[in-house]
Amino acid sequence: MKGLLDQRFENGGFIITKMEDLINWARLSSMFPMTFGIACCAIEFMSTGTTVYDMDRFGMAPRSSPRQSDVMIVAGTVTFKMADRIKRLYEQMAEPRYVISMGSCSNCGGPYWQHGYHVVKGVDRIVPVDIYVPGCPPRPEALIGGFLKLQEKIRSESLVAPKAIEKLMQQEHANV
Ligand code: SF4
Repeated sequence: MKGLLDQRFENGGFIITKMEDLINWARLSSMFPMTFGIACCAIEFMSTGTTVYDMDRFGMAPRSSPRQSDVMIVAGTVTFKMADRIKRLYEQMAEPRYVISMGSCSNCGGPYWQHGYHVVKGVDRIVPVDIYVPGCPPRPEALIGGFLKLQEKIRSESLVAPKAIEKLMQQEHANV
């Protein structure tokens, strides 16, 4: 895929691009994940924000309120007790919003898959997930890989059909 600056004119100091590409570039370069963790995977999420991994270089600035966040990183074991809270936080985020499921627990129940009667077997049963990051726990490099995948996804999104409408259409299609 062509980058935003590929159509740059060296001497004129201007570029030619589509409005959609420009807006998507701005969105993917300024994602605000919610400061939120529910078990051991959250320690790796916190490490990703340290100077060693420097999550800020992707334009990711963690926010402490769901109303200012557009990315939810579900980092940890989702118990049935927490499920309501996670759904409520997701609903408080403004559209367009994205979810990264971080680690085996959040992806499918992890080590609690068989006998954990108190664990939801995948956070995608509560909220729609855009990117899955495997591992128990995934290292910060793996989470950064998840950010990059999410950026790729946002780069190719169409503004004509917003994400919410696309998802509704997909759900309707699946129900037919
Ligand atoms: S996937 Fe592993 S490290 Fe992450 S919350 Fe579950 S048990 Fe903890």
